[in-house]
Amino acid sequence: MTTIAPPRRASMRRVSPHAQRRHARVVRLVLAAGLVAVIGMWWASVPAGYATTPADLATTVGELSGMLGGYLVCAQVLLIARVPWFERAVGLDKLVLWHRVLGTTVLFLIVTHVLFMVIGGELLDHSLPWTEFVSMLGNYPDMVTALIGTIAFLAVGLSSARLIRAKLSYEVWYWLHLTTYAAIFLTFLHQLSAGAHFIDNPINRVLWLLLYLGTASAILTWRFLLPTLSAWRHRMRVVAVVPENVGTTSLWFAGAHTDELGVRAGNFLLFRFLSWGHLLTAHPFSVSRVPHDGTMRITVGAVGDHTRRLRDLKKGTLVFVEGPFGHFTADRASRDRILLVAGGAGIGPIRALAEDLLLRGAKPVLIYRAHSADDLALLAELQGMRGLTVVPVVGRRSELGYDPLGPEGLHSIVPNLHEWEAFICGPEGMAARAEDSLRELTMPKRFIHREELSMS
Ligand SMILES: Cc1cc2nc3c(=O)[nH]c(=O)nc-3n(C[C@H](O)[C@H](O)[C@H](O)COP(=O)(O)OP(=O)(O)OC[C@H]3O[C@@H](n4cnc5c(N)ncnc54)[C@H](O)[C@@H]3O)c2cc1C
Repeated sequence: MTTIAPPRRASMRRVSPHAQRRHARVVRLVLAAGLVAVIGMWWASVPAGYATTPADLATTVGELSGMLGGYLVCAQVLLIARVPWFERAVGLDKLVLWHRVLGTTVLFLIVTHVLFMVIGGELLDHSLPWTEFVSMLGNYPDMVTALIGTIAFLAVGLSSARLIRAKLSYEVWYWLHLTTYAAIFLTFLHQLSAGAHFIDNPINRVLWLLLYLGTASAILTWRFLLPTLSAWRHRMRVVAVVPENVGTTSLWFAGAHTDELGVRAGNFLLFRFLSWGHLLTAHPFSVSRVPHDGTMRITVGAVGDHTRRLRDLKKGTLVFVEGPFGHFTADRASRDRILLVAGGAGIGPIRALAEDLLLRGAKPVLIYRAHSADDLALLAELQGMRGLTVVPVVGRRSELGYDPLGPEGLHSIVPNLHEWEAFICGPEGMAARAEDSLRELTMPKRFIHREELSMS
């Protein structure tokens, strides 16, 4: 097996990872401050006898959970509104994770709201739950639309539960998920027309309106308006479709002002191909070559419907790109010795990163893991990059008789890994194994950067 000598020390631009953690903390603080403000709004308008009887107490719990749910659903949507400040501070992948985690809380609060409002009314009117539920629908304004919105929220929430999500195609899940916007609108109406904390409280009404209008504006601006303008400005087209091996294809794009997209090595963009069968969803792909002279490239592994059909795209197909996103970039490196670990579709971002690191004067080592030599896409190109040491590690563990990404395997290729910094990208199991091994070899966690190729 090849053993790599430590490369010459290289000068790298140092960017503190603390800054990013600090920004993420600020975003969390802003969200928490919003939550406190909502509790303040509730407290300022709660009647004196809010907990005098069990009926009052149940109604109070129902109202508070409704307000908190109403706020958190806006926060949840804002997190994925592509607001550049959030994206820079936290990163889209982490924002998607926070969005998902908040979703469970929102569902819980919505169910609590409905249950406790019905229980409160039932205790007050001495009626049966179902009778109370029906009477609420008839006696308060906008309750039928609120019910439809709530059912939509529950459907979206359930479809995101791991067990059900795994059975749905990404497209079905995605389009179901989009009904959330309609659900928010439908449930919003009853908050102002029937919500005890809004009907007679003009300050609360104005604040609530601002929250919802602000959220809607952010979505319209950053998810629709600016991406559409950007797509029009860049008018990106497919200019070449290059099969790299049986399952991997590179797509080359050209367009106007591509250099101004601000794409860095390790970034990903959302691609929507304006072609039949591709139009309905945008897919994330990392660049395998950053924009240069008006062209840019991605390298895609065929894993499902969409990625398998990319090879059939016609030259000239228009593409809507949104982004760039992500923090898997060379400026995160703060050590001189850089190990790159790639497998499968991870080779695209790793190839771009290798080029950037070389430009910065580093001499990275790439461990390229594949089950067979035929799976090694872009190999000749990588081997032609001066200063990059490529170590293809081919074969299944059962064939090799050892795990090349285990601690011993990695150590046999690069000794003293505790002094190195690593960028890992590939299938989840492979990436997790490489990270665990590096941790075992006492590489500190802050020097291990990993890009996930999944966001759902
Ligand atoms: C940040 C990031 C960077 C990526 N970079 C690359 C790359 O450079 N090269 C590459 O080959 N692959 C990359 N991927 C993975 C790629 O996006 C998926 O393989 C592709 O979307 C699968 O679509 P499909 O319909 O062919 O497969 P499916 O079988 O429909 O999906 C397989 C899995 O991919 C994910 N997925 C599917 N559609 C989407 C979507 N529209 N948006 C988000 N996730 C989706 C889901 O987790 C799904 O379970 C990247 C993913 C992410 C999150």
